[in-house]
Amino acid sequence: MSSRMSRRSLLASAAGLALAAGPLASVARAAAKTPKVLVIGLDGTLLDRVKDADAPNLDALMAAGLTAPSSIYANPFAPTLSGPGWSTIITGVWPDKHNVKDNAFTGQRFAQYPDFLTRIETAKPALSTYAVSSWAPLTDTVFSSKVDTRVSTPSAEYDTGTTSRAVARLRDANPDAVFVQLDNVDHAGHSYGAASTQYLDAIHGVDTQVGQMVAAVKARSTYASEDWLIMITADHGHTDAGGHGGSSTPERQTFMIATGPTLAAGSVRRDVKMPDIAASVLAHLGIAIDPAWGLDGRPVQQPAPDDFDTLRPQLATRVDETGIGASVIGFTHTPPSGWSVDNSAMGTGGVTEWRGWSFTTDEFWTKAQADQNRESNVRARNVFAVADGDEWQDRAFTGTFDSTLVSPAYPVTGGAAATLTFTTYYRHESPQKGEVLVSYDGAAPVSVKTYTSDTSSRVENLTLQVPAGATTARVRFRYTGGNNWYWVIDGVSLKST
Ligand SMILES: [Zn+2]
Repeated sequence: MSSRMSRRSLLASAAGLALAAGPLASVARAAAKTPKVLVIGLDGTLLDRVKDADAPNLDALMAAGLTAPSSIYANPFAPTLSGPGWSTIITGVWPDKHNVKDNAFTGQRFAQYPDFLTRIETAKPALSTYAVSSWAPLTDTVFSSKVDTRVSTPSAEYDTGTTSRAVARLRDANPDAVFVQLDNVDHAGHSYGAASTQYLDAIHGVDTQVGQMVAAVKARSTYASEDWLIMITADHGHTDAGGHGGSSTPERQTFMIATGPTLAAGSVRRDVKMPDIAASVLAHLGIAIDPAWGLDGRPVQQPAPDDFDTLRPQLATRVDETGIGASVIGFTHTPPSGWSVDNSAMGTGGVTEWRGWSFTTDEFWTKAQADQNRESNVRARNVFAVADGDEWQDRAFTGTFDSTLVSPAYPVTGGAAATLTFTTYYRHESPQKGEVLVSYDGAAPVSVKTYTSDTSSRVENLTLQVPAGATTARVRFRYTGGNNWYWVIDGVSLKST
């Protein structure tokens, strides 16, 4: 920044002119590097097995940038298949929006939720977009005809042909955004299983191809004046024996490996989700994300951790739960700074992990009991709060589940509107209830929202009318019930509007 400023003043003084804002802005733009993006999708690849494999190019990208393990859904939300997986990565929304639930793309809503290259063509048609895929449905169906070039590699050429086409495009042309899908790791997974040496060999193979593409980027004659965001990802995992589509933890595993501006070397994050790939591409290319698009993704370059995420270092392993691995992190009942939990009406005993509001992770909570729709909690990130009457009553107890999660006192402006935002997911069974209450300056809490029917994962934005003279507001989330289901709360904020 400072060198650019001095160059600008040098130019201005050399010209001996009082330059107007327009020409100055042009000089600044000319000095900035040109943003470019390369997304490489490795079908069916497990991050844990990348670490086991001989994969020097992926290792180098992890050392130079961000590694983010991530998880996806399971049925009934969507199966862990390539159709929903790639559609989520490429559109930046979860399957309940793009509606791809199989590999036939039946009922897809790509007109409403287009691929990220199409969004680039709409916002900045002068940019050059390119997609090449070993799995033809991506380039035939998911990416639209608005993309400058879409290539479905002939099956006889497979990943070799996909890689050579991508390398040629990166070397010989001037693309601004490139998407590449390599398929062979998934193929090895189906044939031999993720625990096999053949699966590791396939990772070594695609690692070499990733290396060829990264080398092509770095060999560009204009590389010094370019600013590349490179992201590597996968659409789903694989079982040890081979196969995917189900709800097991390995099948639900994906990841983002990313290098680029603001991504610290060797960094690891737990808040990244697969729709973030598309959002990160758009942000890097300077395309403003319109809230009306309904994207679920957030730019990885703009982390937005919430209060609950600060608890991760304090999460403990299981106590009474038996289905969760003894080393899996974890849960805590200790709220973050400024928050409290009121368990004065809470029953006693029960499963320790879920006695009253708990702060936990997808990996820990979904393992408490698989296939009870906990895998559909797609919009919570990193550490979130859970009230789970179903799991609590799996051990001797007295009374009912009655626990209230209390927020810090948020500053508000009396007489004005404020927006209460939170991510939620609520599975219902009578007589269970979830209630959101707001208290101004310590006055009696007032109910602002009640949950008494199934509510899919979503971000709520509730408009509050702040009473005249009020300066603070506390939010309460009260779950009451018994051996029913659960309620998830995450990403809470209250802002004057
Ligand atoms: Zn597969």
